[in-house]
Amino acid sequence: MKFIEALKLRSKLLFLFILVIIGLVLVSIMGTINMNAMKKNIDSLYFGSLVPVTELNDILQIYNGDLPNIIYKAKSDDISSSQVSSQINNSIEIIEKKWKSYQGHFKRDEELQYVEYVLLEISSINEYFSKIAILSEKGIALKKISNDILEKKVSHIHTTIKKLIKYEVDIAKYERKKFLYSYNAIVKEVAFILLFIIVGILVISFYVFKSIQNDQTKLEITTKKLKRSNKKLENASYTDSLTSLHNRRYFNFIYDKELKRAKRDNKYITFMMLDIDFFKQYNDTYGHIEGDNALKNVAKVLKNSLKRPSDYVFRLGGEEFGVILSDTDEKNSSLIAQNICEHIRAQEISHKTSKVSEFLTISVGVACCIADESLDEEYLLTRADEMLYKSKESGRDKFLLTTDISKAKTKEVA
Ligand code: GH3
Ligand code: MG
Ligand code: MG
Repeated sequence: MKFIEALKLRSKLLFLFILVIIGLVLVSIMGTINMNAMKKNIDSLYFGSLVPVTELNDILQIYNGDLPNIIYKAKSDDISSSQVSSQINNSIEIIEKKWKSYQGHFKRDEELQYVEYVLLEISSINEYFSKIAILSEKGIALKKISNDILEKKVSHIHTTIKKLIKYEVDIAKYERKKFLYSYNAIVKEVAFILLFIIVGILVISFYVFKSIQNDQTKLEITTKKLKRSNKKLENASYTDSLTSLHNRRYFNFIYDKELKRAKRDNKYITFMMLDIDFFKQYNDTYGHIEGDNALKNVAKVLKNSLKRPSDYVFRLGGEEFGVILSDTDEKNSSLIAQNICEHIRAQEISHKTSKVSEFLTISVGVACCIADESLDEEYLLTRADEMLYKSKESGRDKFLLTTDISKAKTKEVA
């Protein structure tokens, strides 16, 4: 059942419809096989051995053979008079029994009239033979009995019963035809209903699939849109709107991640704290808008100075920036910090109220060390901050780097 759960809704429905169709087809095949078998059974049962012509044939046999033979034997004195009467009575009794059995079968209304007629004829000829039996019992010689009359009577009853037999056979044939006709009509009806159901299911499933497909396509489009706007939102929440650098929120996330990675791999980790020199004066001199432009320019220089995918630049707030470098020793970290200072200076952004240069400059504090389990995340930041403070104090437009990331040192400076 697990594989059904793993299917998409569309595939689940397809699976269900296929099952229903297979079920219907199997029902149709089984139904056809069973109905054919049933048809054969009914056919042989109803129209075969049970057609009630056997009794009539037996009666015919007695009239044609047994009874006339008794008379002929009596006429030529081959049997005694008591044998004649008992044999005649016996034959009549058998005929009556067979007739009763024949009449016990189902009779159609139109058939009844002829059956009544045959019964009258049988009664009449039986009476004829009964009279002979009585004469014989009384000891009257039967020689005078006319062969002609006997043969006529026998021939008449023969024709009458033969007609009835033909009638019965014709009716049986007609009934069989009727049965086969209605059987075929039922088979056609059932086949038509099944076909109708199958076509109905196919049509319905086609529309259901189409609507599911539309819904799914819409859902996929909406999900894509949602993902895109989520990504945008996420980016926006991690981006500083003025400089397009990563913001402090993203810094918190990346700093934690990179520090853990460095600790795990025992690699170098460098954090730089950067601050524009005399920026208050810059704003005062050139106005806030120019101040913003200067911030954008500094951000651009920082971005261009740090090209490795593992280097991160952040605007931490105001005119303060942060940089994280991975797997970079103190020598290379120093080179990068120096480059940044030079590149900013090389922009030659006029800053006439600065006390250190005619152009805009930046001071940098750098903390760099090989990370191990004992490294405290706070100390790295604090030490970089301390280095920044020191570089400001010692003349600005420069960087200072420390590799000593210890609490003792931090306390001492503080
Ligand atoms: P120092 O050399 O010691 O860093 O002096 P500073 O004047 O740069 O430092 P201070 O902290 O006194 O002043 C920072 C100034 O940065 C104050 C504020 O006007 C300016 N500033 C902070 N954020 C923005 C900003 O988004 N846009 C502009 N234009 N100015 C900003
Ligand atoms: Mg500042
Ligand atoms: Mg400043």
